[in-house]
Amino acid sequence: MKQKEIYIEPSLNLETQKMAVMYFAVKTVNEVQGFVYSEDEFLKKYKNSYMMNDLRTARFYAIYQVDRCENCRQSYELIINSRSQLSNYIQASHDICNVCLCYQASTENILGYRMK
Ligand SMILES: [Zn+2]
Repeated sequence: MKQKEIYIEPSLNLETQKMAVMYFAVKTVNEVQGFVYSEDEFLKKYKNSYMMNDLRTARFYAIYQVDRCENCRQSYELIINSRSQLSNYIQASHDICNVCLCYQASTENILGYRMK
């Protein structure tokens, strides 16, 4: 799973846009993609800034490409709003696309209903 692009609301001021880019900036070391700046570095740089305040309501996210869904085997894109969402996703052992997730949820509903 690799970061494909970063979307940043175009109406944001330039400094806030730069900050959003920094937040999601990635580098690849030994084929493992990681963030360039740690959460600490990020906070240290922007703490108490007006950009940090802008960020509360700013619309920005990273688009990740997942090579294939474990169920239907198609590649798909994933929108990630924060680093914690990304790490939650990575820790949840399987890659399932939204279509399969919906299908799975409805199957579980049916099974749940029948078991009652
Ligand atoms: Zn799928």
